[in-house]
Amino acid sequence: MKISVVVPMYNEEGIAHQFFERMEGVRKIFLERFNVKREEFEVLFVNDGSSDRTFDILKKISEEYIGYSLINLSRNHGHQITITAGIDLAKGDTVAVIDGDLQDPPETIADLYAKHLEGFDVVYAVRKKREGETFFKLFTAKLFYRILKKLTNVNIPVDTGDFRIMSRRVVNVLTSMKERHRFIRGMISWIGFPQTGLEYERHERFSGETKYTLSKMIKFAFDGITSFSAVPLRLASYLGVLTAFIGFLYTLEIIYVKLFTDTIIQGWASIVIIVLILGGVQLIALGMIGEYLGRVHDETKHRPLYIIENVYQKDV
Ligand code: UDP
Ligand code: MG
Repeated sequence: MKISVVVPMYNEEGIAHQFFERMEGVRKIFLERFNVKREEFEVLFVNDGSSDRTFDILKKISEEYIGYSLINLSRNHGHQITITAGIDLAKGDTVAVIDGDLQDPPETIADLYAKHLEGFDVVYAVRKKREGETFFKLFTAKLFYRILKKLTNVNIPVDTGDFRIMSRRVVNVLTSMKERHRFIRGMISWIGFPQTGLEYERHERFSGETKYTLSKMIKFAFDGITSFSAVPLRLASYLGVLTAFIGFLYTLEIIYVKLFTDTIIQGWASIVIIVLILGGVQLIALGMIGEYLGRVHDETKHRPLYIIENVYQKDV
């Protein structure tokens, strides 16, 4: 198998068939440009517990056409785990990952592949311009990547998603990384080998709407930061040193006022403020520790990452 394309699908009934048709076009491009034949090119749809007709549509396609498989998960597992299931089962020498909502044009996979053949183990697609996304999403995404870059020592490229192509040796390392809270783009950066980006235009969703709600995005951001950086934990010690130092200065001032002036020190307001602020800081630090502890707790259970209901493909 020369190439596997992994496609996560969650409630994409309005897109699934269109996606398949575009993929047929991509197969033609691969045959003409790289002489990759139909049987050397597999598409792995991963159905993430959709509650609409996505499963039926993908099952029908996969049972009818050679070169398509449907990995059906037992329930909704989330985007990153869904991708993981697909990558684990991919047989290709190179593995591409692309969202199933047609925001990432499937034809770009051919350009990624061409770049990969130049000797890069990973070619990630860099968003040139993002149509149809709110200012808020663009802004928060930018901010997040900048913060992440500051906090971690892995260099996670800005403006990239999981749309990319990778070599077998990268995939083999990735499948050996069994952590539960997965931030795949970061994990791949961490693996190393020659990696490069390729610009492309990201389009509007073809149909349906984004499944990344604000709360999911916040959770995802936390996963990204906690799995690559212990800086937030250290923040508590820094804050502790800082407040102790400020307390020390304030003590000096009070001693001075008491000894050398006639001012009577009024305490109530300042004490309440200090208690509230310190209480807040302590709770935030505790919460930070809790975030990490919760993740450790999840890891120690050693549950499987995902549960596959069945794999559907054409009988041959
Ligand atoms: N997706 C998934 N499981 C989920 C949510 C999303 O498999 O729980 C899939 C979804 O079908 C799509 C891709 O992941 O193919 C990206 O999701 P979405 O387009 O909602 O994210 P966005 O592009 O807005 O970041
Ligand atoms: Mg999308």
